[in-house]
Amino acid sequence: METDLHKALERGEFVVLYQPQVDLLTGKIMGAEALIRWQHPERGIISPATFIPLAEETSLIMQIGEWVLHTACLQNKAWQDMGLAPMVVSVNLSPRQFLQSDIVNTVRRVLEETGLQPQYLELEITESMTMDVNRTISILQELKGLGVKISLDDFGSGYSSLSYLKKFPIDKLKIDQSFVRDSTTDLNVATIVKTIIEMAHSLNLHVIAEGVETKEHLSFLQYNLCDEVQGYLFSKPLPAKEFEKQFTEIEKIARMKGISQGASH
Ligand code: C2E
Ligand code: MG
Ligand code: MG
Ligand code: MG
Repeated sequence: METDLHKALERGEFVVLYQPQVDLLTGKIMGAEALIRWQHPERGIISPATFIPLAEETSLIMQIGEWVLHTACLQNKAWQDMGLAPMVVSVNLSPRQFLQSDIVNTVRRVLEETGLQPQYLELEITESMTMDVNRTISILQELKGLGVKISLDDFGSGYSSLSYLKKFPIDKLKIDQSFVRDSTTDLNVATIVKTIIEMAHSLNLHVIAEGVETKEHLSFLQYNLCDEVQGYLFSKPLPAKEFEKQFTEIEKIARMKGISQGASH
């Protein structure tokens, strides 16, 4: 598989899917998370959970990561050019890509190459990248200096330290899907989620919940004033063409699922 992985980029076997992020107040699509897939000629579609860790072990993650970044920025620019309501594309960064590559220059160059304005790009980092706190802070500050947004992915699932929230210049928290899943059946989890949302807001951070699958999840998050949601309830990750086609339909579903049109009136 590792040998195949080396050739996958030049063979064009990677594809990026996009999953909508819906605003809970307006039901509008505010963003899309870029999620990579590998279309292996024999094995079929391989999940990033399988091959990203492999790529992380070699320097391949740098090339794959840059390819995703470039593809997602180019796609978002194309969507804007075709008249879709401007939204933010978020791209996952792996720890090695964040700490060991020249990520700041890569992002700057990709924005130049694709013509995407920086406010329409968000970079997702995880708590596992925060081993080297001082280095993380200085990289984040430089990235923020470019004008891009930063979100902390899978919040609560790792060895989170609340002090990161104060130290790191981030814009958004992504509540880990394991919390969302249990929020409607486990009172302790419900309290944790509610508290994360309140804490984020008092730190002026935006909050998004991932893994929203049921109407019950949605109601719970709405009641507790979460800002955005992402999950199968609205849409699974889609190929770019599908995303485009279903854009209006997804917003319609969001309104039908009971998201008020609030700000759009
Ligand atoms: P993640 O960044 O936390 O992404 C969210 C994952 O949850 C995605 O899995 C998405 O398909 C899945 N998901 C979305 N909505 C739901 C839902 O309602 N229910 C459930 N059960 N799952 C949902 P995916 O696409 O398989 O990606 C897995 C992980 O692989 C990502 O987790 C991320 O850590 C990593 N990954 C994906 N694409 C990239 C990439 O381009 N670069 C890097 N470095 N990592 C990536
Ligand atoms: Mg993510
Ligand atoms: Mg996540
Ligand atoms: Mg994850």
